[in-house]
Amino acid sequence: MTVNFSKTAVIGAGAMGRGIAQIAAQAGSEVLLLDSFEGAAGRGRDAILAQWRKLQEKGKLDAAQLEALSGRVHVAGSMQDLASCDLVIEAIVEDIEVKRALFRDIEAVVSPSATLVSNTSSLSVTAIATALKHQERMAGFHFFNPVPLMKVVEVVAGFKTDPEVCRKLAGYATQMGHSPVQAKDTPGFIVNHAGRGYGTEALRIAGESVADFATIDRILKDQAGFRLGPFELLDLTALDVSHPVMESIYRQYYEEPRYRPSVITAQRLAAGALGRKSGEGFYRYP
Ligand code: NAD
Repeated sequence: MTVNFSKTAVIGAGAMGRGIAQIAAQAGSEVLLLDSFEGAAGRGRDAILAQWRKLQEKGKLDAAQLEALSGRVHVAGSMQDLASCDLVIEAIVEDIEVKRALFRDIEAVVSPSATLVSNTSSLSVTAIATALKHQERMAGFHFFNPVPLMKVVEVVAGFKTDPEVCRKLAGYATQMGHSPVQAKDTPGFIVNHAGRGYGTEALRIAGESVADFATIDRILKDQAGFRLGPFELLDLTALDVSHPVMESIYRQYYEEPRYRPSVITAQRLAAGALGRKSGEGFYRYP
């Protein structure tokens, strides 16, 4: 089977970028990791190799497979190294102007036929794409955390996206072992839009002191079958990612009250209590 994209770049080697890079390599692509933060791409590669070593210990990979996979993930020194990539996946900070500036820089180095995608959780793919000369080559490609385990990928067509780009991305998601779902370019797409219903409401329940965080989490797991409660999920995602997502969906829906973000998450974000990544969130992570 020929992989749909033979050379994939992933920009942003954080929680999402490293997971996406891992499954892109598993699909058979050469992968380049780039991050603006000194040393972050190298740490991302190390984390991917550690995941594969765990799979080897469990007998799910043999030594030859581990070696082949490890040889497919490289750290890019600069944007110029991405020139020959046929797919660039952006997974940086959830800020539209920062993303738009990055896409302009990407388009200046890659070939006109390269596909460019954003892993944005909530921002308008159409609006990000307006930074490009060739908007038809850009789409949303939205993975979930942790990427290797969460099998759904939203493929989001912007206003000018070529349908063939979405078809090729959906095929690639399948080659990654994931399940693509086509979504319209609306704030939060499918999953993060539906997620407002319980995430924002859970914050209101806590804010009104009806129940504490742990009780709300426990009830939603025991009674509603959620794998993680809303506060556990906020800790996993990290508030520097999820609070801007709440704000962005609220703004894009013209301040519709039911999407109003919570002062609880705003205050915790300001205090740096981000979740697992800072060691302190709604729960403590020693
Ligand atoms: P993160 O903070 O873990 O990682 C972001 C990485 O991007 C960091 O390593 C940072 O150094 C790098 N970066 C920032 N600006 C950059 C730039 N201009 N150029 C290159 N690198 C840059 O964030 P994350 O959780 O991986 O989220 C990344 C994106 O994925 C966001 O758009 C977010 O909304 C989306 N997303 C996150 C989740 C989640 O659960 N965390 C789920 C789905 C989608």
